Amino acid sequence: MTIVYLAAAVCFVLGLHLMNSPATARRGNQLSAAGMVTAIAATAVQVVRSGATTGGWIALGAGLAVGAIAGLYSARAVAMTAMPQLVSLFNAVGGGAAALVALHEVSGHTALSVTVPTALDVLIGAITFAGSLIASGKLQGLVPGRPVVFPGTRVTTAALTVVMLGAGGFVAAGVGGTAAIAVLALAATGFGVAMVLPIGGADMPVVVSLLNACTGTAVAMAGLVIGNNVLIIAGALVGASGAILTKLMADAMNRSLVSIMVGGFGTGDNGPSGPGGPAAGVREISADDAAIQLGYASKVVIVPGYGLAAAQAQHAAQDLVRLLESHRIEVTYAIHPVAGRMPGHMNVLLAEANVPYGQMRELDEANAEFPRADVALVVGANDVTNPAARRPGNAVSGMPILDVDQAAHVIVLKRSMGHGYAGIENELYTNPKTGMFFADAKAGLAALSAAVQPLVG
Ligand code: NDP
Repeated sequence: MTIVYLAAAVCFVLGLHLMNSPATARRGNQLSAAGMVTAIAATAVQVVRSGATTGGWIALGAGLAVGAIAGLYSARAVAMTAMPQLVSLFNAVGGGAAALVALHEVSGHTALSVTVPTALDVLIGAITFAGSLIASGKLQGLVPGRPVVFPGTRVTTAALTVVMLGAGGFVAAGVGGTAAIAVLALAATGFGVAMVLPIGGADMPVVVSLLNACTGTAVAMAGLVIGNNVLIIAGALVGASGAILTKLMADAMNRSLVSIMVGGFGTGDNGPSGPGGPAAGVREISADDAAIQLGYASKVVIVPGYGLAAAQAQHAAQDLVRLLESHRIEVTYAIHPVAGRMPGHMNVLLAEANVPYGQMRELDEANAEFPRADVALVVGANDVTNPAARRPGNAVSGMPILDVDQAAHVIVLKRSMGHGYAGIENELYTNPKTGMFFADAKAGLAALSAAVQPLVG
């Protein structure tokens, strides 16, 4: 059996390695899934050998069936725009399941032999469960996306931390029995809620990836609690890769993790940004105006954002790109690491529309290109282009942005003057270089293609 588990672990490691490149990522996913199927089958064989009772079989079969059906249905039925919430929900389920494993162990079914991992399993699992539910609610709009702070937030969080650590110490020392573990689970659940509620502004990407890392760590702890190597390996891989992703996202936001967790960011002014109000000085343009700028350009950089995902406009964007390229206009896409609502969101969308990877530029590369671009076409992106990030005192302060205002002309395609996720005005919209083309991203891009066609045809 060990050899089968080892094979599953090799699949996870190779799968993760293949995810290094967008070209091989799909195969990496399939290989990891094959590893997981192998591990589940091996576990089922182990259960047979251990002579499970009928009740045990029913519980195992019901769990597998409900989990598989719910997972398949939700992954297939979910709209692409709701994928970030679903990923967050899956993190919650992973953390919650890991915590339940430890709770089951201490409820008397097996002798409690490993105590520190048990305490860590319940602690991290419960925090992840509650925190991910709140993150999912924020992304879905069920919980306000802005920082939610109530009187006494810090005192409550501090009190929960003390209770959590105290109860965790009792569990780790093997004293206090089920009462200690129940207190630990409750305090950790409360802490998860209190930790994520005050985080808002543009800092959610870091929290989402941190919770992902926590899920993996909790699962690894669950593996230690029940002595299952494949759980330990899979959990450690998710934990480690999630930790690296968290570091990358924090760097991308120019934030320290500690500052985000203590609520130092995302709580800046949300008011209007300039004298005379944000609407003053906005120049509205039509599809024909925008088409003339695009049709006579030699270099265009497209900046996709959440609105492109919401409108599912990736194919319409690529249609326009092909049209421009047929007229020998150089076009690239500028991808900000936190554009959209989940890490890698834009890369996934554009890959779906068969955009060649060589056409996508990361933040630094893109910023080097803007000064040479005739037109920066911003499609449904907002926060990642907001020059307010360059000055202190607001929700995006310090976040590196795409320097679209360095291009000769800027066209912003969105439906209205509506805010982005951080909830603040965008100073780019009042820049004299900027023309606002108000439309849904998909319909607007189609209108642009139609207007560009006669110019380049
Ligand atoms: P933003 O959320 O800043 O802005 C999106 C813009 O899209 C809105 O201003 C909206 O304006 C416009 N929009 C919405 N629907 C449409 C549509 N159908 N057609 C055209 N436009 C549309 O997006 P960005 O990608 O610029 O920034 C991402 C933000 O999300 C950052 O603040 C980031 O921190 C945060 N975030 C990112 C996560 C990640 O992992 N990537 C996770 C969680 C949060 P209008 O209504 O006027 O059309």
